[in-house]
Amino acid sequence: MNRSQPITRRGLVQAGLAAGAGLIVHGAPASRASAHPWADLAAALDGQLVLPTDASYLARATPSALRFAKDSPQAIVVPATSPDVAVAIGFAREQGLPLRIRGGGHGYAGYCTTDGICLDMSGLRKVSFDPSTGTVACGGGVRGVDVRKGLLAQGHWIPAGNCSGVGLAGFVQGGGFGFYQRLHGLGCDSLVEAEIVTADGRIAQVSDASDPELLWALKGGGGGNFGVLTRFRLRTFEIDGPSSVAMTIWRGLPTAPLVDRIADMVAQTGDELTWHFTCDATSPDDLGGFSLPQVTLMCHAFATSERIQAALDPVIRSYPPAICVVRTLPFAQSHDFLSGNHLPENGLWYVKSLFLPGPLQQAAIEVLTQAAGRWPGSSIGRSGTGFIPWSGRLTQVAPEATAFVHRQPGYLAVIQTCWGNEDPDEIIEAGRQWAEQTYRELLPHSSGGSYQNWIDPDLPDPLRAYYGVNLPRLMRVKTRVDPGGFFQLPQGIPVGAP
Ligand SMILES: Cc1cc2nc3c(=O)[nH]c(=O)nc-3n(C[C@H](O)[C@H](O)[C@H](O)COP(=O)(O)OP(=O)(O)OC[C@H]3O[C@@H](n4cnc5c(N)ncnc54)[C@H](O)[C@@H]3O)c2cc1C
Repeated sequence: MNRSQPITRRGLVQAGLAAGAGLIVHGAPASRASAHPWADLAAALDGQLVLPTDASYLARATPSALRFAKDSPQAIVVPATSPDVAVAIGFAREQGLPLRIRGGGHGYAGYCTTDGICLDMSGLRKVSFDPSTGTVACGGGVRGVDVRKGLLAQGHWIPAGNCSGVGLAGFVQGGGFGFYQRLHGLGCDSLVEAEIVTADGRIAQVSDASDPELLWALKGGGGGNFGVLTRFRLRTFEIDGPSSVAMTIWRGLPTAPLVDRIADMVAQTGDELTWHFTCDATSPDDLGGFSLPQVTLMCHAFATSERIQAALDPVIRSYPPAICVVRTLPFAQSHDFLSGNHLPENGLWYVKSLFLPGPLQQAAIEVLTQAAGRWPGSSIGRSGTGFIPWSGRLTQVAPEATAFVHRQPGYLAVIQTCWGNEDPDEIIEAGRQWAEQTYRELLPHSSGGSYQNWIDPDLPDPLRAYYGVNLPRLMRVKTRVDPGGFFQLPQGIPVGAP
């Protein structure tokens, strides 16, 4: 591009295309805001350009995960169309600025923040259900709350997670589990097609017919690695039977035998029932200065409450809980009930994960329950360890059939520490050390795999942990669609020969 001429929309897209052909070198150091022709970029967009001088900048620049709020983008582009995304990519390449994509901003490593251009996808949040195919088309910035509004009223649903703020494009590209996984699989298993803007500014329709390799990679290959999803279509399922939920909480009991008993019970229930459970240390302050271990068991059933109650009864008889709520509810209400039990939305947490193949082993139970009892504490109510049973339909897919490799039945274990805004560095660091130590103790009992949707900046060999045997194939796709490595992330799929 001739820099003495004004930048046009067409020129910016062409800059991207030229760069894709190797004519422009990406990666020049980002220069300061005033050096860039922002007015030209604004004029080329149908959507918005938000600069640090704009009143809405602070609200837009702050990701929901507050610990990543320190990176201030030089500009935020809020695309209204797919060509806007191509324009933003062309501009970033032309100006040598890094670009990061923000969906729901809930990523665990702050990959949606940058000191270059933040592509804020919140302008693309349309959800539209097609009854003739039973699929739902989602804009690239759609979040849980949007599908809740746009799809449930149609009597259909997707294998979504339970946080209304999570971006669906990020969720699906990283796998995507939830309370419907045993019967309906993972979010990525529902992906039918996608529209993607690649590093060269091209807008491609990706399906099994047009580009099966790229579609394969989008099913678990990790958000932000291959391009910008501006639209994607997911298979839905019909909500046609009863829906029930349960929450059972035990306090102050010996946790290891209880967790063992719960795991036995879970293994005997059908795929209509999905269970998640956690082993937490409650905040010492709530309990007059000492900490009580707490086990929380959540369930969703595509069945009446009697099915859950029948499964729970023998456990409850042996281990009387402090609280036990079991209800049959309209599906929307059961979804909302389960949505309440997740990480605090302030994003002040640190999470590690490991996949545990096979039945839950005594040794792993000991590590995870004892660790929960040792959590050093913070001003946030509780933290600890969690168990996501990995079974049912999601494990009936071959590890190589999609980029999401973790298909062995067993458990996904989570180790998490949360803290509050006012907590000093020592508290945060003590929690981090606790999580690291627990991870090291659990590693010998695991497959070594970690969940790519819970990006963990401290993993020693992250790409093997996230993608396993699928890594070479992912690298081949990356090298084809983004040969210059424009979409760069600290733990991103690298360009080059596997
Ligand atoms: C409170 C909370 C609850 C959660 N619950 C669950 C759960 O129940 N199940 C589960 O599986 N996971 C869950 N997660 C993890 C979540 O699925 C991942 O962190 C996911 O990647 C977040 O996506 P996002 O768009 O919100 O985040 P972002 O940080 O905006 O994006 C995450 C990654 O995806 C990329 N990306 C986002 N949008 C696009 C797009 N349109 N095109 C291309 N790349 C894009 C980003 O560049 C980034 O690399 C939860 C996370 C939190 C914080």
